[in-house]
Amino acid sequence: MSRLVMKFGGTSVANIERIRNVARHVKREVDAGHEVAVVVSAMSGKTNELVAWCTEASPMHDAREYDAVVASGEQVTSGLLAIVLQSMGIQARSWQGWQIPIKTSDAHASARIEDIDGSEIIKRFQDRKEVAVIAGFQGIDPRTNRITTLGRGGSDTSAVAIAAAVKADRCDIYTDVDGVYTTDPRIVPRARRLEKIAFEEMLEMASLGAKVMQVRSIELAMVHRVRVFVRSSFDKPEDIDPMSNHPPGTLICDEEEIVEQQVVTGIAYSKDEAQISIRRVQDKPGVAAAIFGPLAESNINVDMIVQNVSEDGLTTDITFTVPAADYQRACDILEKARPAVGYDKLDGANDVAKVSVIGIGMRSHAGVAAKAFRALADRGINIRAISTSEIKFSLLIDADAAELAVRRLHSLYGLDK
Ligand code: ASP
Ligand code: MG
Repeated sequence: MSRLVMKFGGTSVANIERIRNVARHVKREVDAGHEVAVVVSAMSGKTNELVAWCTEASPMHDAREYDAVVASGEQVTSGLLAIVLQSMGIQARSWQGWQIPIKTSDAHASARIEDIDGSEIIKRFQDRKEVAVIAGFQGIDPRTNRITTLGRGGSDTSAVAIAAAVKADRCDIYTDVDGVYTTDPRIVPRARRLEKIAFEEMLEMASLGAKVMQVRSIELAMVHRVRVFVRSSFDKPEDIDPMSNHPPGTLICDEEEIVEQQVVTGIAYSKDEAQISIRRVQDKPGVAAAIFGPLAESNINVDMIVQNVSEDGLTTDITFTVPAADYQRACDILEKARPAVGYDKLDGANDVAKVSVIGIGMRSHAGVAAKAFRALADRGINIRAISTSEIKFSLLIDADAAELAVRRLHSLYGLDK
């Protein structure tokens, strides 16, 4: 017997028929003798609609009331799934975030989970064989007793946090893709589904563009060592053998669990990047702080910072990337900071892409990045900036070369199927 958390996203609970399909997945696991907590999202499109209603009601609205509104999507699906499960003869009870309670910070609309008491849910597994159907995305601020939400895509984080709290053997993320791929299959049809991926690698993949799960959920899984299994909710529930060790999907796990470690695991890319270069910045203490401080205060996420060592000891260039959506705002902020920073001019480009090569194997292999530089040069692709960390390197290139670069790197590192 195992203890499982099963999480279903918006498309999996988009209508009553699909909720019935979810219930059959749950029934399969319950019949196999497992203890099950289910975490559900709102019906697909629902949260967008609720968010839009808040804005329509008043563009500048109270974040506490926003949370009261947007948390309702998950309240509906958790109740509906409990009803369907009960109608199939399965003991089930719905739980809202405040009922468990899932205690969070007070950062409404992007709250962080602080504590979950899983004891009542575990007790009901044991005493009544009851399935817990938990509304994802929501919690409660214990200081004010107000409903909070975890940020868009937050039900992944709810699921992983619940799995940690009830000490589940595994957290299954049922979604509209059947796993994590070596890269985006829409760009590289030869992309392969990974059987396993290490937490650290998945964190990089998710942060760098693979939108399978909320980034925060993977951080949490890594910290609490929660094994996460990404799988499709569209497989016919009865076709899956719950005792089989190999249903289709990708296991996100500790690197120790991965026997055949490849040097490179995947290629991520993001076209939503913009490059900013500040020319002839004064080379003296405090300048980087004067540049990046104001950007941080405005919540602009800076990535790929490249600064050269100046030749004359007087000035240097600094290049970095920001999300394309923040490009104009970042330029305005830097323009304002110009007197404090002291620089010559600001250059920028919006039509750039970041391609990243990820793999834990890089820690122990030399020359992995050098191979990529040669391969891209052979294709006439110019590299604007490079950044590296222990298990990945990222290349900033022209946006229109991104797909070619991803395909080239994918086959270069032997990832094609
Ligand atoms: N329903 C929420 C959203 O759309 C949470 C989630 O689906 O993970 O962002
Ligand atoms: Mg989602």
